[in-house]
Amino acid sequence: MPQINPHIINLKESATLAINQKARKARAKGEDVYHFGFGQSPFPVHKNIQKALCDHASEKDYLPTLGLPALREKISEFYQKEFGYNLDPSCICIGPGSKELIFQALFVLEGSVIIPAPSWVSYGPQVNLRGKHITRILTKFENGYKLCPDELEKTCVSLSEPQKILIINSPNNPTGAVYSDEEISALVDVCREQNVLVVSDEIYSLIDFSEKRKKGFMHFYPEGTLLTAGLSKSHSAGGYRLGFLASSPQLEPIIKALSTLVSETFSSVSAPTQYAAVVAYSQDPEVRQYVDRCTAIHQCVGSYLYKRLLEMDLNVCPPDGAFYLYPNFNSFSEAIENRIQSKNVKKLCQHLYDDYRVAVLPGTDFYGLENDLSVRMAYVDYDGEKVFHCAETEELNDQFVEKNCPSVAQGCDQIKKFLDSL
Ligand code: PMP
Ligand code: GLU
Repeated sequence: MPQINPHIINLKESATLAINQKARKARAKGEDVYHFGFGQSPFPVHKNIQKALCDHASEKDYLPTLGLPALREKISEFYQKEFGYNLDPSCICIGPGSKELIFQALFVLEGSVIIPAPSWVSYGPQVNLRGKHITRILTKFENGYKLCPDELEKTCVSLSEPQKILIINSPNNPTGAVYSDEEISALVDVCREQNVLVVSDEIYSLIDFSEKRKKGFMHFYPEGTLLTAGLSKSHSAGGYRLGFLASSPQLEPIIKALSTLVSETFSSVSAPTQYAAVVAYSQDPEVRQYVDRCTAIHQCVGSYLYKRLLEMDLNVCPPDGAFYLYPNFNSFSEAIENRIQSKNVKKLCQHLYDDYRVAVLPGTDFYGLENDLSVRMAYVDYDGEKVFHCAETEELNDQFVEKNCPSVAQGCDQIKKFLDSL
């Protein structure tokens, strides 16, 4: 038997990718699945970006480890215009998705890693691979699942390592919450006081339905923030695998260390993809309009799902951004316990899948508790190309979702059927 690193052998496949494989396999066999399990933007990549990718197919040389200089310039200009961030191109590192860059940043940094729970699935395993454990702070439904400054402070005080790292994600996967400027500013006061570096995961920052453009951690706390984002969600290009990590010049030693690590690991991101990304970040009005239309569709589907879940008497926070909701079945817990002989959210998800063909992920995959019947629902399971075209002429409302996103609407009917049967 080959000997395998124990940090890896104890790891399971990422829950999001695993449920997607399961749903795809079932569909390939002709089985119905109402797939709320996987968060991938369904729209086609904008044709101007696709064209740039094809036009640069002959770019075969390795690029600098930090990435194509023209791309880093464009990202800096884009984030200046969109969010008012002053990103110096020399402090931007391009990577094969922000997931890999978060992993590498965690590898570079010392200190205790704190996450609010619920949080995205992969942060914990990435920290485990570094030989450490995350410190989880359970957030509350009543606070919109947002981290409160006093909870952060209490946790920091209890940790002995001098440096702490907080990974925070807004708009949020899995809850759909967005932190306001005031909430960020209050957290920053604690971070400054308690020596907390922030990894601000802003992969969904362009998919924000809340009122005004947020300023973000990079605005309030440039000296302590690592910003990560990329093409996967806003530009529907998850498979291009292009993300970036940026810091202010004060944190340049981190970028230097990251650059060395990159040089010893993936070397640089695929050159044609980086050229394509230049177009994505170049303020091309057609691409910008495309991002806004995709966001408007996400908002419409999110609002439909939210209303349907409320009608079923489930507890759920409103969608402010990204494409997820995090409803809980706690008000039905007794009846559910009678049905599945346990008050365990994993068993609930298994039952929803086996008996109602509804694929959702249990809150435990997002660091929730087993007896909290919260599940994550991604609302992106429809034909993105068709829906994008329909949205050019049709009004975005509930009828639009019922007509064009049938799996979302029917999946809600299935959940209702389950609740009615209790
Ligand atoms: N952060 C969050 C919260 C995510 O949902 C994802 C999912 N793709 C990522 C980071 C990673 O994105 P990517 O590696 O595609 O940039
Ligand atoms: N971010 C997506 C999700 O949460 C899927 C991709 C991934 O996890 O890397 O479903």
